[in-house]
Amino acid sequence: MSSSQTKSRPKGGLFIVSAPSGAGKTSLCNRLVDFFPHLRHSVSFTTRAQRAGEEDGVDYFFITPESFKEMVEQGAFAEWAEVHGNRYGTAIETLEHWREQGCDVLLDIDIQGAAQLRKAYGEGVFIFILPPDLKELRKRLENRQTDDAEVIERRMKNARDEIRESVNYDYVVVNDDFDIALDALKSIVIAEGCRTARVLPGLTEVFDLDI
Ligand code: GDP
Ligand code: ADP
Ligand code: 5GP
Repeated sequence: MSSSQTKSRPKGGLFIVSAPSGAGKTSLCNRLVDFFPHLRHSVSFTTRAQRAGEEDGVDYFFITPESFKEMVEQGAFAEWAEVHGNRYGTAIETLEHWREQGCDVLLDIDIQGAAQLRKAYGEGVFIFILPPDLKELRKRLENRQTDDAEVIERRMKNARDEIRESVNYDYVVVNDDFDIALDALKSIVIAEGCRTARVLPGLTEVFDLDI
């Protein structure tokens, strides 16, 4: 990329979203990337079985445990973690591909992966999505009809530990009314895009700023 391109298009930022399973993270994140053309979903690699309706390369890259292990050994992941008995990881290449084009990247990842990125990158906006309460969380997991009873129990059991991690995030959004929660997420993305450090470097020549 030429220096003039770099100037007018600063490297994109990272939005990291975590939530207990069933809180509505996937539904909210999908609507968010549809709304902002400059925001791209980071498609993770996973060893989990593909659910009905999921598309390889769109929802996840579904790979075997052997391929996952190879990627770990090659240092291909910015972060990876074992979640609910399966492995999930974000490829460095995915993040850099979008960020170099000036796009912000939305990562829907678990609390362990978020902690790794907080340490490794030292940047990023960390958002935690909460359900209104645990009874509603269970109801949503059951209504979604994608997981059997044993999987739902495991996810409910993990939810308590995951929710405790919310104290380490920059923002907490309660997904009670879906549209209100979506508005809150949009507001965060818009506000972060107006941060002085994000905006002024692109305007130094226009306003003859000495920064
Ligand atoms: P969901 O909880 O119903 O959205 O179920 P998923 O199977 O889609 O995701 C399982 C868990 O893996 C969630 O906690 C995700 O946030 C997490 N996850 C997804 N992708 C990644 C990733 O690339 N890295 C990490 N660390 N976690 C991920
Ligand atoms: P996650 O990715 O966090 O596991 P999903 O986006 O799959 O969550 O949402 C879990 C279920 O709850 C889905 O069936 C979804 O349609 C539903 N859901 C999401 N948000 C709300 C909400 N605010 N009110 C009621 N149901 C919701
Ligand atoms: P699900 O199996 O329901 O799609 O996802 C379960 C959990 O895995 C979710 O909390 C999701 O955020 C997390 N997850 C998905 N992809 C990744 C990833 O690449 N890295 C990490 N650490 N977690 C992920």
